[in-house]
Order: sequence, then C-alpha cells, then structure tokens
Amino acid sequence: MSKLPETMKALVAYTPDRYVLETDWPRPKAGPDEIIIRVEACGVCAGDVKAKHGAERFWNSYIIAPFIPGHEFVGHVVEVGSGITEFSLGDRVVSEQIVPCGQCMFCRTGRYWMCEISDVYGFKDRVNGGMAEYMRLPANARTYRIPMDMPIEKAILVEPYSCSKHAVDRAQIGLEDVVVISGCGTLGLGMVGIAHLKNPKILVALDIKDERLEKAKEFGADFAWNPMKVNIVEEIRKLTEGYGCDIYIEATGHPASVVQGMDMIRKLGRFVEFSVFGAPTLLDWSIIGDQKELDILGAHLSPYCFPPVIDWIDKDRIGTRGVAELFLPIDDWEAAFRIAETGEGNAFKVVLKP
Ligand SMILES: [Zn+2]
Ligand SMILES: [Zn+2]
Repeated sequence: MSKLPETMKALVAYTPDRYVLETDWPRPKAGPDEIIIRVEACGVCAGDVKAKHGAERFWNSYIIAPFIPGHEFVGHVVEVGSGITEFSLGDRVVSEQIVPCGQCMFCRTGRYWMCEISDVYGFKDRVNGGMAEYMRLPANARTYRIPMDMPIEKAILVEPYSCSKHAVDRAQIGLEDVVVISGCGTLGLGMVGIAHLKNPKILVALDIKDERLEKAKEFGADFAWNPMKVNIVEEIRKLTEGYGCDIYIEATGHPASVVQGMDMIRKLGRFVEFSVFGAPTLLDWSIIGDQKELDILGAHLSPYCFPPVIDWIDKDRIGTRGVAELFLPIDDWEAAFRIAETGEGNAFKVVLKP
C-alpha cells in the first residue's frame, strides 16, 4: 500500500460565517478499533445547510467546532486499526450517520439511534464528516460493505433512503391503506419507492414542484399532485368515499403541510412526522384527540435500515435514477450548498467529490 499523506483537503466549519476549505488539515489516523476511509463522495444534506445558516438549535448546544460537515458519504478503507477484523483495506463502505455511545440507556436497550450523546457525523470534531479527502470511522461506527460495482449515483443514496425507510416503517403500511407522502425531495422520493414496495391500495405523492411529481410517479406513486394547483384535500376525499387517507407521511418541513395532513387524514389514521421545521406549526390539537383519535408518530434517522436498503438499491427494487446527478468537486462547496438549499436547476441531491 502506498503511504498515505499526512495532511488532506477538508471543508472545515469554525462558525456559521466561517467555513474554510483547508488544504493541509491533519489526516485522521486509525486507533485500535477505528477505520480510515478515502472519501469517494459525500452528499449535501438539508442538515448541513441548516448548520451553515447558523441554526441556533445546532450551534447553541449540539455542534462542537471546528468540525468537518457531511454524513452522506461513501468511501474505501485505507487504514484499519489492530482490532478491526470485519473490514479490510480496499473495502467500499458506508456507515450510519450516528456513532452510538454504547453506554446510555437507549444504546444499552438497542435503541441506539436515539443515543443520548447523539454523535452524528459532520457536526462535532470527534465525529468529523465526509467533506474531506479522508475520514475516521470511530470504534462504535455502524459500517457496511457495499458492492464495488454499485454506481456512485446509487451508492450515495443509501444514507438518505435508509432514513426514508425508517419513516415508512413507522407508518406500518398495509395493503388496504391509502397513503399520502407530502414532499418529494430525495428523502420523500425514497419514501415513495419504499412505500410502493409495501403495495398499498393507493399511493399519493405531493409536492409544489412538478418535476419532482414526475419522478414520484416514475418511482411508484399512483397519483402525484401539486397542492398549489389541485385541491388535494378534496381529491383525497374523492378517493376514499369521503373518509380521508389512512396514512400521511410529512416530509416537507413546512407547517402548512402538517395542517393539510391533519385535514385530509381519516379518523384513527396514522400521521408520521419526519421533517425538521424552520418555524413552529400552529394547529388545533383537538383534531388529534377529540376529533380523530390519531396516532402521531415521529421518525428519526435510520435504525437497522442500511442492509435492506443497500440490497434494494443494488437490485433496483426502489427508484434511484436521476436523483443524485449533480456531482461537484469539493472546491465548489459553496455552490453545492447553495444549490442544495435552493434546488436550482431541479437538482435533487447535490454531491461533493473530495
Ligand atoms: Zn441527512
Ligand atoms: Zn448512547
């Protein structure tokens, strides 16, 4: 093996106003139970953009700077610690976004995705992310091998689609259900593909961008509607003899989508909330109890979802075509963050190549 360099190129976040592409940042080295990967690509997530915008919730109590952003990465193993037996040099891997502490009550009871410490790559210096040439996967990392020949356009979707799977799992979709998925960004499209695998009676996708609705139909939605153009509450009632949808999965992060969902969901329905919101939602809570007796379910991260999602993506059982198309060199990180935020050029997932 050729000797690895001592320094590397890395996007380093010091403060919301100070993100610097460092060219001689120290390369991480593997401790006994750690792995170092050469990053092949790293997607830009809405969470990365929110951190860049200085989201108070992140910077006040969560972020430990300086850090390297990025939790949607694919890479090749270039260094393994003495205690690593499962992985070898050259393996192509992905790793779940959270590195569980292994000690807290949630970790000890198998619910590691809600780890009290919550070390997610790309927000803290001890779990630096994939927007760098090299990256360290710490001892408790949940790492998986992916096929060497899986195109990077597909491989880069393993992390986001795994989050989609968890949200769909929470919804407990049955064959008789009319399911509405609100929001057809990368995650919403993953939900459409995975909900389609569950074969519900009717699958409806909503988004305010028509190009996204086209993609949702391609990935398995029976109907794809734009709430700006169609009275969707009325359409859903028409489809369901006036009752409303059985399941509503919220993946937009807009308060209006919550209100709309509460309106179109039937009594005793299931509402799954996946998004992070920029503003509080104003809602009459009597809908939840007195009017409809709803099940309100949250979804966070992607517990136990990586292995099946890798398999489904590999076998083309869920749609991926055209989602991750825009790859930029890490030098263009500013453009990548901008495009991830604005969606200009109809990009779904923007990916950096360090
Ligand atoms: Zn993400
Ligand atoms: Zn923990």
